[in-house]
Amino acid sequence: MNDVTLRLSSLNKTYLQGTPGELQVLRGADLELRAGEAVALVAPSGAGKSTLLHIAGLLDTPDAGGVEIAGRNASGKGDRTRTAIRRQDVGFVYQFHHLLPEFTALENIVLPQLANGTSEKAAQERSMQLLDRVGVAARADHRPAALSGGEQQRVAFCRALANAPRVLLADEPTGNLDPETSDQVFATLMALVRDEGLSALIATHNLELAARMDRVLRLDGGVLRPAE
Ligand code: ADP
Ligand code: MG
Repeated sequence: MNDVTLRLSSLNKTYLQGTPGELQVLRGADLELRAGEAVALVAPSGAGKSTLLHIAGLLDTPDAGGVEIAGRNASGKGDRTRTAIRRQDVGFVYQFHHLLPEFTALENIVLPQLANGTSEKAAQERSMQLLDRVGVAARADHRPAALSGGEQQRVAFCRALANAPRVLLADEPTGNLDPETSDQVFATLMALVRDEGLSALIATHNLELAARMDRVLRLDGGVLRPAE
């Protein structure tokens, strides 16, 4: 089915730990994220949300199971296809912005586009449009340290969307912000997701924010289930 933009099939992941030994975090997790759908991922700390998102975003590999993004099989380990898919089709947002500190907000959004083969001029234009849409255009020439927490996250959203991915993965994207800022920044993120027609999987502890998405999934015992 090509209206599924992210398909996770029977993902398994076990971490080896000193003592008491092994910790099986994912035990056959399945997910189908459809085009244009925004899905919340909720679970207590330590349940495996970050593990699942990192595997879905091709930042980590499962022990078993499949990842398919925008119709392409991304399960092979460390090959070029995975890198290409990660660059072109996946945007990732972390709890902390992870912007490059020595570059300006604008440069942080331009750089991934240059790495993907976009011309400097087109990259600058796309970046300014994105910054404008999240209300941070006036801060384009500032480095991350000179921005507020909310502004930093808005710039991080722009960077994640720089290469116009099909799928956005966000790991507690407003978890570092005070409640009021969190609400505003989350609304900005959802507006971007809708404008760009993205599919999004967003981990959050905030059940009010989760309820604003199309579906809520709970990671429970290493599998994904619809939340009650
Ligand atoms: P969540 O994001 O839901 O808080 P995580 O995916 O970060 O959960 O972690 C799930 C479990 O796996 C936790 O118990 C965590 O300590 C453990 N874990 C995560 N990453 C590693 C790792 N690289 N090595 C060993 N254990 C890990
Ligand atoms: Mg986490």
